[in-house]
Amino acid sequence: MKATITKQCMGDRHCNNLCPEVFEYDEDQLLSIVKFDEIPAHLEDIVRQAAAECGADAIEIEE
Ligand code: SF4
Repeated sequence: MKATITKQCMGDRHCNNLCPEVFEYDEDQLLSIVKFDEIPAHLEDIVRQAAAECGADAIEIEE
């Protein structure tokens, strides 16, 4: 599973708070980034939850 964050990200850091293992805030780009190329299996569910809860609909998942 892969996850990417589009430029629609509004930087509220909800995903960072929900799952800091995967999501990080990039102070230069002013949006969140995904730390992994391939999401570790044990973190897939929380990443799906982050995508569902993202208010900007900015987290795209590729299963
Ligand atoms: S939850 Fe969505 S809008 Fe908020 S920081 Fe994460 S990707 Fe950006």
